[in-house]
Amino acid sequence: MSNRPRVRFAPSPTGSLHIGGARTALFNWLYARHHGGTFVLRIEDTDKERSTPENTQAILEALRWLGLDWDEGPEVGGPYGPYFQSQRMERYREVIEKLLAEGKAYRCYCTPEELERKRAQAQAEKRQYRYDRTCRDREDQPDLPYTVRLKVPLEGTIAFEDRVYGRIEVSCEALQDWIIARSDGTPVYNFVVVLDDIDMKIDLVMRGEDGLNNTPTQLTLYQALGVEPPAFAHLPFILGPDRSKLSKRHAPVSVLHYRDQGFLPDAMVNFLARIGWSYGDQEVFTREELIEKFSIENIGKTAGVFPADKLVWLNFERIRAMDPARLAERVKPFVEKAGLPLPPDDRLAWICRLQQDRAKTLVELVEISRYFFTRTPIDPKAGQKFLTGPSRELLLEARAAIEAASDVSEATMKPALEGLAAKHGVGLGKIAQPLRVALTGGTASPGIYDVIEFFGREECLRRIDEALAQFSVDSGGELA
Ligand code: GLU
Repeated sequence: MSNRPRVRFAPSPTGSLHIGGARTALFNWLYARHHGGTFVLRIEDTDKERSTPENTQAILEALRWLGLDWDEGPEVGGPYGPYFQSQRMERYREVIEKLLAEGKAYRCYCTPEELERKRAQAQAEKRQYRYDRTCRDREDQPDLPYTVRLKVPLEGTIAFEDRVYGRIEVSCEALQDWIIARSDGTPVYNFVVVLDDIDMKIDLVMRGEDGLNNTPTQLTLYQALGVEPPAFAHLPFILGPDRSKLSKRHAPVSVLHYRDQGFLPDAMVNFLARIGWSYGDQEVFTREELIEKFSIENIGKTAGVFPADKLVWLNFERIRAMDPARLAERVKPFVEKAGLPLPPDDRLAWICRLQQDRAKTLVELVEISRYFFTRTPIDPKAGQKFLTGPSRELLLEARAAIEAASDVSEATMKPALEGLAAKHGVGLGKIAQPLRVALTGGTASPGIYDVIEFFGREECLRRIDEALAQFSVDSGGELA
């Protein structure tokens, strides 16, 4: 393999990018970045019925969100394009003709009915069906429809060293002269994949475990074309908690779903990397660390179970550790989506700083911060408890302290409010809680001095006055 390896991710756009595909993409990307190689993105859209441009766009969007940039492929182009299989039909046809001309492939005139009969017979005799090569040495029949089959060696073995699974060997007898082009002339999947990997000079094919069964068949084509095959590494499936292949039944599998739920791409990348790959018992990795530490040797042979709660934990940790200004950039779209007014950047970063150790997702961060963006209704129970009766008296005094203070920084407010508490012989909570309810509408928020400072004197006074006006003096509150 060259020391600047070329790898590829080759999704079929029959749906959006799912967790398993994203992990395959990530491992290829990490491999390319680790070795200073090239990450190629190829869209395998030969299944015309199920492939849509919308799905392609959704896949590109998910890859971009994950930060898995491709060096060659859709939108960026490259020397071996086009990178859409549907645009490479001419090339496939040309190679099929060449294989026919060289006698490495042949036209098969067997009708579907004949083949079905033979298959049924094999089944009745409890034999595994293999095409019996009736047409391998048959004369050309100019007027009959035909498929094109590859001449697979009659004996010997096809073997390869999978970089994850080790040596895999299949006897040629177990293979058959497979169809490379259907009767309408269209090439089959195993054919186009090989051609693309050859034309795009791929050195290592890293793909899902489901590709393992196809590999011996694909190798017969490399052989027929006289081309040295790439290396292969197959990735064990990701499993659900019941140890069956991860599917929608277990958890949402679309990558964009996680974006929309407020997960950070770095958390997702960290999470995906750890499914089936390990580095000692390290769990938390930056992107740079993953690039540095990634190696195929550390991919496990046994499938990884999808640890959904680990994603939540990683996201929580990542949100906490993020620079508030950068976090604010990520949070912005969620503020807009929640229909809340977007504050100036520095104010948004301030909110993030106050809340970043309380939220598991960006959606949650915005949800618990609504009162910072706008006035929110006061929780009636909290209002009843803290804005009436004796609590109200303390709130009025706290209001006066805010009004009279030279500024509303913690350095000024702390002695003022503590002095008030001492004067009444109560704990600071008895002052802070009514203030909190008046300022935020509820009983949970960041520290009271942070809240006061964020709003500033005027807004504090306005919120307190409004709150007091909403709850009457003697509606039965108590000094809780
Ligand atoms: N297009 C195939 C898929 O989406 C990938 C096959 C391959 O990587 O060779 O499953």
